[in-house]
Amino acid sequence: MSTRTIPMTDALYDYYLGSSLREPKILARLREATLAHPEASMQISPEQGQFMRFLVGLMGVKRAIEIGTYTGYSALSVALMLPEDGKLVACERREEFTRIGRPFWQEAGVEERIDLRIGRAVETLGAMIEAGEQGRFDFAFIDGDKKNYVAYYDLCMELIRPGGLIAIDNALWSGRLVDETLDDPASSAIRTLNVKIRDDARVDMSLLPIGDGLMLARKLP
Ligand code: CA
Repeated sequence: MSTRTIPMTDALYDYYLGSSLREPKILARLREATLAHPEASMQISPEQGQFMRFLVGLMGVKRAIEIGTYTGYSALSVALMLPEDGKLVACERREEFTRIGRPFWQEAGVEERIDLRIGRAVETLGAMIEAGEQGRFDFAFIDGDKKNYVAYYDLCMELIRPGGLIAIDNALWSGRLVDETLDDPASSAIRTLNVKIRDDARVDMSLLPIGDGLMLARKLP
């Protein structure tokens, strides 16, 4: 029994994964391939990938956006759950990261569903709005550079349909946000966005302590 979220000890985490993780082999292999990368901590956790697949399936997502693709684990997670004609617009600034994931997307047979856009996501999303794609997406996952988090949220709010979902990664920022003196651009941006979403009457929201904290905001119909 617990009146608050229970602390996740190492032993409990092992039990949690052992008793509930279903990770397709192709995802496990991509995760392993990414572990050798110097910035491997940017990869989402396997249970978070599973939860995102669950959400995409639950919502019947057809069109999705991702900001910050890195080596492509979360993109592959989402793409595996999209229908044949589904589309994920995956925004990543550094092409070399995505080179690790692309062979896995291909092997999984979902490469066609992933529309990879190399460049600055603020510009990519801005161009999509210019092109009249407002309200045409069911789901967005924001996991790009943290200092642009508020801009990414505002852009996604335009691109997502009423009833669609925006998921924002690193909302708990490795626990660092409890230090109120911390005011570097990334920490400040995450803190600002968490409060903005809490107070945003346009959305229903919930912050999940999964992975590094996953903020969920559903645009109200
Ligand atoms: Ca992240």
